[in-house]
Amino acid sequence: MPDSGITRILITEDEIKATVERLGAEITACYMGIAGERVVIGLLRGSFVFMADLIRQIKLPLVVDFMAVSTYGDGTVSSGDVKVAMDLDESIENRDVLLVEDIVDTGNTFNKIIRMMHNRNPRSLRICTFLDKPSRRIAHVDIDFCGITIPDEFVCGYGLDFAQRYRNLPYVGVLQVE
Ligand code: 5GP
Repeated sequence: MPDSGITRILITEDEIKATVERLGAEITACYMGIAGERVVIGLLRGSFVFMADLIRQIKLPLVVDFMAVSTYGDGTVSSGDVKVAMDLDESIENRDVLLVEDIVDTGNTFNKIIRMMHNRNPRSLRICTFLDKPSRRIAHVDIDFCGITIPDEFVCGYGLDFAQRYRNLPYVGVLQVE
């Protein structure tokens, strides 16, 4: 039975676990032959639950950092503006960077962040997203590691919110739109 405000469960806890394990294995294999420590950057707040699970499935030395950006207010429609509320502590210059996002929707946010990151001259920059909603894409984003492709529905849980709520749901559910 889904929680109140959620119409149905889209991705179960078991599916999430299997997805994170697969992504961790893909990322480990990709970086295995590359010497040096990689920097894994989570975009707050949505990615924090996924990040916590994902980094434990990456079987290589790494450094974690976070950046807080905001695009959505308390609604379900993107404002199109990206605001950096909290920047990185780490310098990413000449380092191998993995950017971790909760969901790529229109692509506006990630497209801007990727450009910002490239300007800081990382040695490499790869993108991992837990969810992908390609049907709504406006700005191009090259995703290197993709969890689950979902239809055009507003989802919550496993770190994703609506008005800061539902982040603690252990599954991903479809929000009831009034
Ligand atoms: P984009 O710029 O790709 O349109 O949006 C990216 C951000 O919008 C995500 O990081 C996330 O915060 C928010 N977002 C997009 N789609 C959804 C959704 O279905 N559910 C939730 N909770 N947030 C979403």
